[in-house]
Amino acid sequence: MQVEEKKVVGIHYKLTDDDGKVLDSSENAQPLMFIFGIGMLIPGLEKALEGKTKGDSLSVSIKPADAYGERDPGLTQMVPKDQFDEPEKLQVGMQFQVDTDHGALVVTITEVNDDNVKIDGNHPLAGVNLNFDVSVEEVREATQEELDHGHVHGPGGHSHG
Ligand code: ZN
Repeated sequence: MQVEEKKVVGIHYKLTDDDGKVLDSSENAQPLMFIFGIGMLIPGLEKALEGKTKGDSLSVSIKPADAYGERDPGLTQMVPKDQFDEPEKLQVGMQFQVDTDHGALVVTITEVNDDNVKIDGNHPLAGVNLNFDVSVEEVREATQEELDHGHVHGPGGHSHG
């Protein structure tokens, strides 16, 4: 059975940047389970997986345009620390949600100095080339219920307890 629209696919993967730093991995975890073709993966990875079958391995390098997009310098901003409830706790890497004219945005603190913090509304992987090593662990039909819910049920998937 091939990876195609409305199939449930399970993959093991390792994601590295161009310096070889591991950004994410399913090692020591369940395979990542998803319904193919409904936008659960970045476009570049979906494209690479299409037509593959169980047991296939692939390595693919994905440009930002097919992943999390290019970085937008306009999404960074200096904010006075005293605008926060607990300014003494602010640290680089902290993430929180802010309301903007364009809706809710998740921002990351990328700099902290005496009076201000720099916040960045870009996705942490924006502008990054993503290098995936992937092995296809499972390909099966999605159940109607899974398609209705838009997620995978069972091991590695969603549990409705
Ligand atoms: Zn469900």
